[in-house]
Amino acid sequence: MACVSLEITQRCNLDCTLCYLSDRAEMAKDVPLPILLNRIGVIHDHYGAGTSIQISGGDPTLRKIEDLEALCRHIRLLGMRSCLMTNGIKATRAMLSRLAAAGLDDLALHVDLTQERKGYTTEASLNTVRVEYLRRAQGLGLRVLFNTTLYDGNIAELPTLARFFRDHASEVALASFQMQADTGRGVLRERDAGITQERVMKALSQGMGLALDFDAMSVGHSLCNRYTSVLAAGGTVISPLANHALIAEVIAVLEKIDARSKGNLDAIHALGRLAVRRPGLAARLLLEVGRWAWGLRGGLWRSRGRVHRMSILVHNFMDATKLDRDRCESCVFMVATEDGPLSMCVHNAERDAHIFAPAKLDTPEGPRWWNAETGLLKADQDDSGGKNVVPMPLKRLKGRDRANAMRARIARKSR
Ligand code: SF4
Repeated sequence: MACVSLEITQRCNLDCTLCYLSDRAEMAKDVPLPILLNRIGVIHDHYGAGTSIQISGGDPTLRKIEDLEALCRHIRLLGMRSCLMTNGIKATRAMLSRLAAAGLDDLALHVDLTQERKGYTTEASLNTVRVEYLRRAQGLGLRVLFNTTLYDGNIAELPTLARFFRDHASEVALASFQMQADTGRGVLRERDAGITQERVMKALSQGMGLALDFDAMSVGHSLCNRYTSVLAAGGTVISPLANHALIAEVIAVLEKIDARSKGNLDAIHALGRLAVRRPGLAARLLLEVGRWAWGLRGGLWRSRGRVHRMSILVHNFMDATKLDRDRCESCVFMVATEDGPLSMCVHNAERDAHIFAPAKLDTPEGPRWWNAETGLLKADQDDSGGKNVVPMPLKRLKGRDRANAMRARIARKSR
């Protein structure tokens, strides 16, 4: 399991052109804290310690900081990892410090042109925002992740963006790229045929200036995710996954030794056990590590021996109307719902039914059901699936009429 998303609000302070929220999202009330804590328990029951929980939304920073702290503490208490998924606008240094103290592990920042931030017209210009965010998180012990949606408006800049992440590989734990998908309220819809996994992987290699090995390791279905990682030291970057056969052998053995790694320290313990059980394999791995050190030699001198690993993920969400059963069944990105974890693509396709489903809460007076439309706890279920939400005009933000904006874009593209 890569992660489970816990949507704690449907509100957002941006209005991305490829947003996965539904048009009625912001009519939903925020899920009460006790229900969220229950859902964290359910995630633990399903996947156990070590699972990464994305505290997500909407933008989760719009909730009270005390709620965010309580979620981080509870996730840490159950031995899982927490990741705050935010556009970063409200994630001040003070907020991040409090959350880090409460146990937050990871900070995932969404920055790209689909957000239409005022004054930024290229991905290169957005690098100032990325650098500012890195500065805010510096020294807090958080792993910093960046999310970038890829679409025809920024795909040509991908090599430049890859170079930025290469240059900041010592500060970024994961650079994740999501290819455009037709899932929600966004005004952009189907992705251009020219945006393919192959093109994205090639552009990333080109920008990083080295052949990235996207075939050495897999995360879930290969049509959904392509994964690789690089090692960086003092400005030198190498791919450590060139020896596919050795990597496959090591992973197979580690899986038997320790099916669920709980972080880097556990990985080190698992490698120790590998050395005891399979000394021959451990020796070949050591030789490979020697090759990595040789590749990094110039940078190692400059970094005084410090090496950082940056993961790279290309994520290929499906359009809501084109779900592939095999892929949904092997999904590794889940969303916590009232009925338990559900594939993120399936959730995106059925959003309102889940967001507006009554949520059960056990109280001293007996079971109660929370209604996302009213925000009330009641003794009886009202399973309207959002159908009772008063029909409102399509969402207007930043003075823009969504329906007209969408029509205008489609007309521009067909010209
Ligand atoms: S099914 Fe969708 S959410 Fe799940 S791994 Fe595939 S693309 Fe990602």
